[in-house]
Amino acid sequence: MGDRDRVPETRTLCKWKSGQYEKDRALLVRIVAEPVFFCADCGRVAGKKKWLCEPTRLLKDE
Ligand SMILES: [Zn+2]
Repeated sequence: MGDRDRVPETRTLCKWKSGQYEKDRALLVRIVAEPVFFCADCGRVAGKKKWLCEPTRLLKDE
C-alpha cells in the first residue's frame, strides 16, 4: 500500500490512477504539455514514449 505516497517517474501515465492526476498535477502537466506520442491502447498523450504503454507518433508528416 506504500505506493500511494508518490509516483515513481518510471510508471507510465497509462497506469496512473485518478487520484494521481491531482496529486502529481505538476508532473502530469509536464508530460502532456507538448504531446508527441499518443497511446494506441489508452488514448493518452505524452511528450515521451516512456509515459505510454503503446506509444504511437501523433505527427504523420515526415
Ligand atoms: Zn496506454
